[in-house]
Amino acid sequence: MTEFHVSLSGVTKNYGKQRAVNNMDLTLRAGECVALAGHNGAGKSTLIKLILGLIRPSSGKVMLLGHEASGRAAVRMRGNIGYLPETVALHPSLTGAETLAFYARLKRQPVSANAALLSRVGIAQAAQRRVGVYSKGMRQRLALAQALLGKPKVLLFDEPTTGLDPASRLMFYEIVRELRNGGSTVLLSTHALSELDGHTDRIVVMKNGSKIADGSMSQLRHTAGLPIRIRLKL
Ligand code: ATP
Repeated sequence: MTEFHVSLSGVTKNYGKQRAVNNMDLTLRAGECVALAGHNGAGKSTLIKLILGLIRPSSGKVMLLGHEASGRAAVRMRGNIGYLPETVALHPSLTGAETLAFYARLKRQPVSANAALLSRVGIAQAAQRRVGVYSKGMRQRLALAQALLGKPKVLLFDEPTTGLDPASRLMFYEIVRELRNGGSTVLLSTHALSELDGHTDRIVVMKNGSKIADGSMSQLRHTAGLPIRIRLKL
């Protein structure tokens, strides 16, 4: 039997009169990596927040690791979920090591694994420096480290590579590959479709809250009706 880590059926989310997600069906199998593409305002971040259970759907059902995403059971298994938000607020006066220790306590994870994690994202040398002096790439690497705490089964990355230097981007996709090999499921939203080649199993394209395409990069290259800016980047 296929194991679904994430499944959405007929999910709609309205903010007042604004429909952010419209009648969405989506399933992610264990070990799958799927990219969410779409222009600004297409509904990508809202979809990720629905899967996280941070917001409730107006209608339809969101299941995460076998539980309703916004239900009580899902709260108990938050340790199995890693989330990298679009904008990460990190305290400038804490060091990288202190920041990760803070998140580890928050997530009830042992801090003993933190040094290896900082090394894995390539900022071990800067661990004792204050985050205030970190570059954008270093801050994003630290934010990624907090998302990886506790080896989550499902990882949700909201525009993880926006504004990153090429080396950090490369490292990010290397980590995604390791996560997939380890059986974790990854959903990432992006505008940078051209950098995805070979890194994701499928790309889901959203427009005005609706899914308008779902397939591999080569399948999408032959899909008619995609927005022109997305076609150009494929
Ligand atoms: P971007 O690429 O710019 O981050 P997105 O694809 O992630 O865009 P969302 O942020 O999910 O899109 O927004 C989808 C729609 O819902 C937009 O029209 C947005 O203005 C609206 N929206 C999102 N969050 C809220 C909110 N908290 N209250 C009201 N409207 C919202």
